[in-house]
Amino acid sequence: HPGPPGKGKPRLLLMGQRRSGKSSISSVVFHKLPPNETLFLESTARIQKDSMASFMDFQVWDFPGQIDYFETPNFDMDAIFGEIGALIWVIDAQDDYLEAVARLNSTIINLQRNYPNINIEVFIHKVDGLSDDYKLDIQRDITIRIQDELSDQGFENAPVTFHPTSIYNHSIFEAFSKVIQKLIPRLGQLEAMLTSLCRTCRFEKAYLFDVLSKIYIATDSAPADMASYEICSDYIDVIIDVTEVYGSWSRPEGYREKLEEGQHQKLEDQVACNWAESSIVLADGNKPIMMREVDTYLALVAIMKEGSYDKMPLVNMNVDVVVKGLTEFFEITKPRS
Ligand code: GDP
Repeated sequence: HPGPPGKGKPRLLLMGQRRSGKSSISSVVFHKLPPNETLFLESTARIQKDSMASFMDFQVWDFPGQIDYFETPNFDMDAIFGEIGALIWVIDAQDDYLEAVARLNSTIINLQRNYPNINIEVFIHKVDGLSDDYKLDIQRDITIRIQDELSDQGFENAPVTFHPTSIYNHSIFEAFSKVIQKLIPRLGQLEAMLTSLCRTCRFEKAYLFDVLSKIYIATDSAPADMASYEICSDYIDVIIDVTEVYGSWSRPEGYREKLEEGQHQKLEDQVACNWAESSIVLADGNKPIMMREVDTYLALVAIMKEGSYDKMPLVNMNVDVVVKGLTEFFEITKPRS
């Protein structure tokens, strides 16, 4: 529940104990730091407010783990928790987590009393170093410890969700996607648009990405799989890299005329084609993949069915219509400032 429209922006809050991985997470996801370089990051030692050029304008507030903010006199709870949509709590799964769990429990109980609408998202973090069995054990153990304590205190229905995460693979992005999707009003409508686009264009899978973070905001109703997400997210990187090296340019007049030849209906808007779009055919499986800019922050990326590259002109026409719809969707969804 991001709050009533117009009342500030949906906000994410990242918390957890010192060395749990908070700075690493925000650097890898929002600032493109290679995971290995987080070894040299300074641990979070104060409250950091981090504003990003992302479509939701969400902020990651990085808290020092050791401060007991609920006990601090004059602590302005409303300023911190008043408008956040989700609290992300990072627990280091490779470390002794009993204290982290205890702190999380008292935080949840405090929030449930004062701000019951805040989603609580627990990142069981650094699971890359753990065997699959051990990973499941730890997840179960943490979940049970939290849920038991909550029901003892009479909060059976607290909105708490658990995500295993690591900065060394895509799990951290997957987890953020789930967190963000809960904060988007009328997500179902957005998904329906993508599902219908997949049907008309014979796409296998389509994702709407926040380009800066490569978190996906929505996808069609086909089952999500890591492999297709990774291909699409890597494709964005490729396009960004190529654009950085070679720049971008408008299509020459003649090329555009050629493109429009054979299309029954001229696309009036394409005369001023000033968005980024790109498509390639993957060597592996002869599948085309396409990307289309939606607005400053968002891009649509889709994997097409094998051997369907000759359908591209038709696909572009359909994508065009959906992109218009998406732009309108976010126009009315965006909180008025
Ligand atoms: P903070 O104090 O919560 O901001 O924690 P940091 O971001 O400084 O991270 C503490 C240490 O954990 C660093 O050495 C990171 O490299 C390491 N780290 C962070 N995330 C991961 C992860 O997903 N897996 C592993 N193995 N190490 C991680």
